[in-house]
Amino acid sequence: MTLRAIIVGAIVLAAPREAACWRMAEHRAIGTESYIAACERLAASKDRDAGTTQRYEVACGNLGTTAFLYGQGTSVSGDFVSEPGELLSVLGASTATSRTNYYKLALTNGAHFHPTATREWREIHKDAVDGALAASREVGVEQLQAFEQAFAESAFADHFLHDSFAAGHMGFDRPGSSVAASKAFHDEWNERGRRVANRRGQIWITYGDGYLDIPQNRDARRRVVAASAESVYGVVAAFVLGTRDPEPDYEVWREVPFAIDDQELLPTFESLFRGSEVLTRPTMLPLLAVKRRAEKDGILGAWSSFTMGFEDADHPIGAIVFGGDLLLPGLGTRIEVGAGIGLEDSARHVRFAVDGGFVKGIALSFSGLVSHEIDAGVLLVAGTDDVDVVPRITYRLNVEAGDWLVRPEIGPAYDVSSAELGFYVGIGIMKVLSASGGGGFY
Ligand SMILES: [Zn+2]
Repeated sequence: MTLRAIIVGAIVLAAPREAACWRMAEHRAIGTESYIAACERLAASKDRDAGTTQRYEVACGNLGTTAFLYGQGTSVSGDFVSEPGELLSVLGASTATSRTNYYKLALTNGAHFHPTATREWREIHKDAVDGALAASREVGVEQLQAFEQAFAESAFADHFLHDSFAAGHMGFDRPGSSVAASKAFHDEWNERGRRVANRRGQIWITYGDGYLDIPQNRDARRRVVAASAESVYGVVAAFVLGTRDPEPDYEVWREVPFAIDDQELLPTFESLFRGSEVLTRPTMLPLLAVKRRAEKDGILGAWSSFTMGFEDADHPIGAIVFGGDLLLPGLGTRIEVGAGIGLEDSARHVRFAVDGGFVKGIALSFSGLVSHEIDAGVLLVAGTDDVDVVPRITYRLNVEAGDWLVRPEIGPAYDVSSAELGFYVGIGIMKVLSASGGGGFY
């Protein structure tokens, strides 16, 4: 077992059940509707010759049921199964319903975001079209088998095409952002909606995961279904007609979001004084342009800390506090403050505690599932007649499961009253409520 597998496994067990994609029912609806549209468009050509009629029957027979199967394929792809072959295999059935696998894929979901999502679609769609074309030249079970493979590849590819239309899947540097920051950024934009433009220059507002069917998303919904129908048509037409028609590929390319109003999310501190962000740029920027990463901003939770001198080991100081973090505008550093109870000398005296400091991110590991930070802070524990003041500089590791953080930390500390060097350890459980950052360089 690799270290990565252990860490991902541990996070998987702790993670709340929240996806970072269109909801399953939304993917399924887009997939089903687009498959029906593609088959209906092909119906006019199905009586061309006996072979065409037979292949049309394979691809589009019992259309409602076949289209449902396709829609379900798009909904589990990428989240539950990690490659098209799994959709077909017996293993696919158990993989697709396994929570563990779902979390593993959903937590490291960089491929579902712009600009990777459209490339992911392109790569797998290409295989699906090639496979469909090859299947058209086969007969009998070889043909059925080959088409089934192309069908699964196409459904897998289209999942990423659907994601390319979701507002929360664009406008920031996903690989450069931690999992919790990405989740908070993603959730906010999916709900708020974003102005996007396609390569035809048409502009609309698109919402995202969980908002496919709201009235404000009607135009955007029509567009994601239209693009997906082109994608399906490219594959099914290659099989039924036996020729490669490049036009559907170009139609997808013209329709998919290409540019956005990619304003950054202001830190909560800044929006308190300035209101929400105002976009001053005259033009929309391409999704392929370099984007800023999202940062964890508002965080709330509880942590427990413990500090002790190296010499005076019988005088430990502990605290349990509730509090949170806010990002300081322009610095990429968060201020963190918590208040609660302090414990001293084996909990014989209960005192008042304040723990706070400045926290700065320094690196990410495991696709952002783990973030590393430096915390420079002070623990203050006050009784009726004395105060312990213990400054510290610690290293903190955040294990990020969706928008939850489990954060152990450790480092040197200095007890001011006893003038003694020691150490500080802490462990916290926090929830990330908001992100800031993202947006393009301009
Ligand atoms: Zn997805």
